Amino acid sequence: MEYHPFGPSKHEVSVIGEGTWYFEESERVTAISALKKGLDLGINHLDTAELYGNGEAERIIGEAIEGRRNQVFLVSKVQPGHASRKGTISACERSLSRLRTDHLDCYLLHWRGRYPLEETIEAFEELKREGKILSWGVSNFGVPDLDQVLEVAGKGSLTCNQVLYHLKDRSIEQGVIPWCEKHGVAVTAYSPFGHGDFPSSRTKEGRVLEEIAKAHNATARQVALRFLARRPSVFAIPKASSPEHVSENAGAAEIRLTKDEIDRIDETFPVGASPGFPPW
Ligand code: NAP
Repeated sequence: MEYHPFGPSKHEVSVIGEGTWYFEESERVTAISALKKGLDLGINHLDTAELYGNGEAERIIGEAIEGRRNQVFLVSKVQPGHASRKGTISACERSLSRLRTDHLDCYLLHWRGRYPLEETIEAFEELKREGKILSWGVSNFGVPDLDQVLEVAGKGSLTCNQVLYHLKDRSIEQGVIPWCEKHGVAVTAYSPFGHGDFPSSRTKEGRVLEEIAKAHNATARQVALRFLARRPSVFAIPKASSPEHVSENAGAAEIRLTKDEIDRIDETFPVGASPGFPPW
C-alpha cells in the first residue's frame, strides 16, 4: 500500500480507501469481512456518513473495526439538514456511538445546505477542541465555496474536499484539484468507478484500459484507480462489498504507470468531455 499525508493533518493515509454507500444492502458478514480484508492489506481510509443506510453503514464499520480502531483513518459526514451549530455536534455524537469510537479522524459537511458555513465550522472547531474529531473538511464543494471556507476558517484548518472523480468525469482537474493543491488540502475521489458506470471492455475506451492493465499484469479497474490517484494530493475511495473486490482495488497502489500510459488514458478520457463541476 502507498500512503500520503492527508492535507494539513499530516496523517499518513492509504491512497486507496473504502467507501460504504449502500453497504447495508450487502450481506452483513461479507461486508464486514471486506472491511477487515482491507485493513489486513493496509487500507486505513474508511469513508462513511450518517446518511448511508440511515446510520447502518456506520454500525457495520463499528463492528468491523472493533479492536483495530488505531489502524483506521475514519471519516464520516454530517448531512446539511443537521449542520447547524448544535445539530452538527449532536449528529457527530450519534455517529461516534454507531461507530463505537470516541473520535473521528476527519468529519465532513456532506454538501452545502441552508445553514451558514460559519455555524458548521464553529461546531467543527468545538468538536476538535473536545477531541471528538481530529480534523474537518467538506464535500461537493466547488472553487467559490472553497474560497468561502478559507475566508471563514483561515488557512490550515480545512483538511479535505471529497468530490466526484472518475475517468468519465474529470471536471475537478480544471479548478478544484489545483485549488486544493495550492492550499494543501487533500482531495478524496468518490465514485472512482463511476458508481456502476465503469468503461466496459466491449468499448474502445475499455480496451485501452485492458491493454495497459495487461502490461502490468493488472486489471482495468486497478489501472483506473492508479490513474486517479496518480498525484499525492488525491485519495480514491471505491466502494467494494466483497473481500475479492477489496483485494483487487488495494492492488492498484502497487502499479506504476509510465508517462506514455498516463498520456494515453488522458487522451482516451479527455477532461474536456467532462460535464463541469459541480455537476448540478
Ligand atoms: P464506486 O466506488 O464508483 O463503485 C462502486 C461499485 O463498484 C459497486 O457496485 C462495487 O461492487 C463495484 N466494485 C468495486 N470494486 C470492484 C471490483 N474490484 N470489481 C468489480 N466491481 C467492483 O461508487 P460509489 O459507492 O458511488 O463511490 C464510492 C464511495 O464514495 C461511496 O461508497 C461513498 O463512501 C463515497 N461517496 C461520497 C459521496 C459524497 O457526496 N461525498 C457521493 C458518492 C459516493 P461491490 O459492492 O459488489 O463490490
